[in-house]
Amino acid sequence: MNHLDKLEAQSVYILREAYREFKNICMLWSIGKDSTVLLWLARKAFFGHVPIPLVHIDTHYKIPEMIQYRDDLALKWKLTMVYGENTQALAEKRTFPDGKADRITCCQNLKSEALKNTLSGEWNRYVMNHSTGKYIQDTNREKYTGVIVGVRADEEGSRSKERYFSPRDKENDWDVGDQPPEFWNQFKTDFAPGTHIRIHPLLDWTELNIWEYIERENIPITSLYFDRGDGKRYRSLGCYPCTTPVDSTSKNVSDIIEELKSGKFANIAERSGRAQDKDDGGGLETLRRGGYM
Ligand code: SF4
Repeated sequence: MNHLDKLEAQSVYILREAYREFKNICMLWSIGKDSTVLLWLARKAFFGHVPIPLVHIDTHYKIPEMIQYRDDLALKWKLTMVYGENTQALAEKRTFPDGKADRITCCQNLKSEALKNTLSGEWNRYVMNHSTGKYIQDTNREKYTGVIVGVRADEEGSRSKERYFSPRDKENDWDVGDQPPEFWNQFKTDFAPGTHIRIHPLLDWTELNIWEYIERENIPITSLYFDRGDGKRYRSLGCYPCTTPVDSTSKNVSDIIEELKSGKFANIAERSGRAQDKDDGGGLETLRRGGYM
């Protein structure tokens, strides 16, 4: 087995364990490269059919091509595609782009709060109707008790503190100092009732591993990651008011792999173009302790 085979096998194992151990789980799909690799791995783990709903938290400030890509793939791969949003914060314009909130508050409103209430079923969820390609209100209000997330330990500091099976309390809060050990691939999957579980099958993957795997498997990803003629590309995708592209002439996946291997970004954080990280003190720990992805 090469290193990608080993990573793939480990992630497939975690996905199957999660599906077997936890009732009513979902998988977050941010539309970025990592969670799209995660989705690809889920298709492998369950032989082409993804038996877990995909959930996207729509801030309404995502780059429009991301939403188009999400819906195209959801239709093509017959995914149970669900989105949630903070309708009230958007209506009251309690957002950073509207000038009524700083970035941290805006992320808490549009991401953390929306995620918490979407997972709990307290707020409306919208599910894709595959006959029409449109979203309708989801009649299923059952709480998702676990969520599979495509975070990677090398992506930013707070993520390196995660476990594969990471408990959160009823409010989605994360007690970083009180997490079960996971020695020698022994995973704790037995948690007290009411515990919300985050599952991280990609924890050991690096940015380079992700791109190598995308190339090997020919996984379709959004072209926002490529230089489309202006000498810039997104290295990490997010809301357009808070995400800036990097200088790069990489026009395809193999160019990106070469670029990463060249060491050009060795001392530049992958999420350096994400302004909310800087506003959270250079990391995301404050936001992530409160439920941020
Ligand atoms: S990334 Fe920017 S626009 Fe998106 S939720 Fe955070 S502050 Fe708001």
